[in-house]
Amino acid sequence: MDSDPVLDRYFFELNAAHFDAFLEKTPLVWNDRLRTSAGRFIPGRRRFFKDDPPVIEIASYLQKIEDSSKHIRDTIAHEMIHYWLWARRRPYGHTPEFLAKMREIGASRYNTVGKRRPFKYIYKCPHCHREFPSRKKLNKLACLPCCKAHSRGRYDPRFRIIFDREINNAASGGASVFSAPVQAHSAPPGF
Ligand SMILES: [Zn+2]
Ligand SMILES: [Zn+2]
Repeated sequence: MDSDPVLDRYFFELNAAHFDAFLEKTPLVWNDRLRTSAGRFIPGRRRFFKDDPPVIEIASYLQKIEDSSKHIRDTIAHEMIHYWLWARRRPYGHTPEFLAKMREIGASRYNTVGKRRPFKYIYKCPHCHREFPSRKKLNKLACLPCCKAHSRGRYDPRFRIIFDREINNAASGGASVFSAPVQAHSAPPGF
């Protein structure tokens, strides 16, 4: 696995500054499918370090956000704490030991970005054309403002919101859609 030289530089710097250069170099790679987190630590097989080392993955979208290098560095530091605990045969989740180390080195508590997933789909009301951003595929939801205006607030299939398009957050230059969704309500049984 090819480690990314840009990420490697952060690794060497952080390793020297906060881990007494104790950590053996391991691959650091970009992952363009990571959306819900900024990075992750994938443990390897201890006895087969050469063939199957741990891997630190960093979400590619971090390259496109504001203060990019700070977030990349923070994320690597965070994942390196997982690695450091793993290498010392300690539980390597977000344990008290993890948090203590994080405070010591000043990395952010959790990954600072990517906690909220960007919206992925846009649905539209066929009547008023309001847009409904969503993180997942929706089934039967109706536009609440239209149901209120025309059906006394009851679910009305005429105002069922329909799929309009998928948002490609990567192609939008990292400008993820994070706006608050407009209200929709779900169909009662029978619709
Ligand atoms: Zn973590
Ligand atoms: Zn509507």
